[in-house]
Amino acid sequence: MCSPTIPSQMKAIRYNKPGQFELVNMPVPEPRDHEVLVKVRSCGICGTDLHIHDGDFNVGMPLVTGHETSGTVAKIGANVQGFAVGDKVTADAIETCSQCHYCRQGKQLYCENFAGHGTQLNGGFAEYCAYSASKLFHFQKCSWEEASLFEATACAVHGLDRVKPPAGSKVLLLGAGPTGLCLAQLLKMNSGSHVVLASNEGPKMQLARSLGAADEYVDLSRSDPTPQWEELKKSYTHGFDIVVEATGSIQILERAIEYCTRGGKLLVYGVYPPGDVKISPMRLMMDEITLVGSFSEMFDFPRAVHYLESGKVKVRGIVTHTYALEEFEEALTALREKRCIKSTILMPEPRLVD
Ligand SMILES: [Zn+2]
Ligand SMILES: [Zn+2]
Repeated sequence: MCSPTIPSQMKAIRYNKPGQFELVNMPVPEPRDHEVLVKVRSCGICGTDLHIHDGDFNVGMPLVTGHETSGTVAKIGANVQGFAVGDKVTADAIETCSQCHYCRQGKQLYCENFAGHGTQLNGGFAEYCAYSASKLFHFQKCSWEEASLFEATACAVHGLDRVKPPAGSKVLLLGAGPTGLCLAQLLKMNSGSHVVLASNEGPKMQLARSLGAADEYVDLSRSDPTPQWEELKKSYTHGFDIVVEATGSIQILERAIEYCTRGGKLLVYGVYPPGDVKISPMRLMMDEITLVGSFSEMFDFPRAVHYLESGKVKVRGIVTHTYALEEFEEALTALREKRCIKSTILMPEPRLVD
């Protein structure tokens, strides 16, 4: 039987402090009894990786980053069942402690020791990474590029659970980033009778149309979007049942609430810079607007895998750029300069030996 050899050393992107990473050689992790060693094949890069680079997140360093990892099973811990070497798997990067105040109530998302591979534990910008078997999910059909959208889709599924749109909802989604594109499709097939996607004009909106992500598209002008905002107001005088803010802009969040219908919900879904939001409490009270936050995901990978594997959520084309591990700096820069919709680090196929 052919099986890939596992070397003792691997290449990895390791941060020593914010802004300072190097491509290092380090030992391949040995999977513990409950873990599986994954040979990484793809690991998506997202805004979180920029925040880590810039030191906005309090993460422990030295750290191998990368939290959107998929690959093949390379080695299986002694107590693990249900996996075979070579299986295609994607990793839910989050680990919780099961001992804190929240974990003991089954609310693991609020774990006081919430830790993620790629944020607090070593992650997938490496040739290998070890994960708890319970955090790995099989898939077959998706390409390695598409696999880097499992995590974003899991977060979108969680957002949907949080906002619970009533059947027949009119929805306004602001922001057409990778996760917004997934969320738009989920909203369309889960209770959204009419989904309007509004975002800055450009390639993301063209892609949104080709994916059929929404029912209606509003291309906001980059120089002056005022006319489009006004037009939207005129077309939907009673507002939307659900408004989702997925741009991460505080200004747009403040504006978003104006588009909620009376009794509507506003889902706060972006990652925002530090700062405060000005929202009229009288508007919240008189119009019974519900503000809903959504952070990360918990136990949402099975549904995300099913949506992508079934093709119901279409992600082909969202990854516009792929890079080798050695090109990590270039990949970060492309993301920062918004030259890609989404980029992914792709690793070569492991070498087979007898
Ligand atoms: Zn991410
Ligand atoms: Zn906990």
